[in-house]
Amino acid sequence: MDTWESLKAECLSCRRCALADTRHNVVFGVGPVNAEVLFVGEGPGENEDLQGEPFVGRAGKLLDEMLTLIDLSRKKNIYIANMVKCRPPQNRDPLNTEQDACMDYLNRQIALLQPKILVCLGRISALRFIREDFKITKEHGQWTLKDGIWRTALYHPAALLRDPHKKPDTFVDLKSIQAKILEVCDHTY
Ligand code: URA
Repeated sequence: MDTWESLKAECLSCRRCALADTRHNVVFGVGPVNAEVLFVGEGPGENEDLQGEPFVGRAGKLLDEMLTLIDLSRKKNIYIANMVKCRPPQNRDPLNTEQDACMDYLNRQIALLQPKILVCLGRISALRFIREDFKITKEHGQWTLKDGIWRTALYHPAALLRDPHKKPDTFVDLKSIQAKILEVCDHTY
């Protein structure tokens, strides 16, 4: 069985796929390791690769602002990770082979964290964690209980930057996450 530190050390020295050749940093994740709520994005961009932390660019700033609205923060009470831990060059989508090689780390993080709630950031994450034919425009904000973990998806913050008209929907979804936390979490607030 992993410990958090042994898993992190293994991941930071990973060479399972070719993204290891071009990365500056492995982006393992951020937040308290007793968090009851896990947010999962797709993969690191340029800023994340350079700083070794998820969601630190413009989309990350927006994500932090959204989280603040419902009393959540990466410093206090949620964990944030990506499906793929190393940056795909030129921000291309991660290949299926890269996702398959990397998902083992996120699955092991989930086994250790045992989150009560998993929030998918964007469609790609929702396809993995909710349903393989998930439709983000129709199904964002809806809840599914799978393997004892409540799951939902938000529009990816980068999509909100491109199309601010989606923000009111996301506000409703955030309030729904806040209500679900009150319902199923022990110590998140
Ligand atoms: N987009 C993601 O999906 N993850 C990050 O860490 C940054 C941008």
